[in-house]
Amino acid sequence: FHPDDTIVDVGGHKIGGGYFAVMSGPCSVESKEQITYVAQRVQAAGASILRGGAFKPRTSPYSFQGLRAEGLELLQEARAVTGQPIVTELMNNEHIHLFEDAHVDMIQIGARNMQNFELLKAVGRLKTPVLLKRGLSSTLEELVMSAEYIMAEGNPNVVLCERGIRTFETSMRNTLDISAVPMLKKMTHLPVVIDPSHAAGIAFMVPALAQAAVAVGADGLMIETHNNPAKAKSDGAQSLTPDQFDALMKVIKPELEFFGKKLN
Ligand code: PEP
Ligand code: MN
Repeated sequence: FHPDDTIVDVGGHKIGGGYFAVMSGPCSVESKEQITYVAQRVQAAGASILRGGAFKPRTSPYSFQGLRAEGLELLQEARAVTGQPIVTELMNNEHIHLFEDAHVDMIQIGARNMQNFELLKAVGRLKTPVLLKRGLSSTLEELVMSAEYIMAEGNPNVVLCERGIRTFETSMRNTLDISAVPMLKKMTHLPVVIDPSHAAGIAFMVPALAQAAVAVGADGLMIETHNNPAKAKSDGAQSLTPDQFDALMKVIKPELEFFGKKLN
């Protein structure tokens, strides 16, 4: 019923149908200076969408939980400086009004909420593009069904994200399921992006996995970049420095050209 690829527009930047977008920024928004600095650096390197977590889903309740509503304010301030659209995670239906007030350009549904069906239905009632991350132990069929929950409510702007799955391998945080990209493209018309940062959990692996993502046909990347990874309040070990992100983009750009994808 839907032979063409879906193209999702995030604040004027397209994902899918030959268009490739890079989302980058810190795991957590930590301060105005931090998010604005990283926004400027990743934009200069070629990222078109700023990521930053305000509400953080942490394994331990004693870990940093995000700046929450203040984090959304700081993302808006960074957007006012760079003009980049923002993508940030929504964990709870009760926070939707905050996301609407902040005019969040893309709502991330995190791996741990991929099957929070009431949350999926709620973002389905919005028009805002949704970045739907694959659950840590979810099959592709389950991911596609979660996307259906959003689309069935009337929101067709869904981008799927492979971010690594839990396997028996322990040397990386997760195992990047690169096979998910061609299979999802066969199963659906939706754009598919790869998050090599959460898949690897270790910064040195991120560039290689990002290159593999382009080669296998992904429509975009989400990469964590932090001004000072050693001092990051979350996911420092997997975060690139702005210089490392810049170097990665210099490799990705000719690769995208080779595969006929338009970076935007
Ligand atoms: C994140 O993007 O920082 C995050 C928590 O991702 P995931 O839901 O994939 O673990
Ligand atoms: Mn993270």
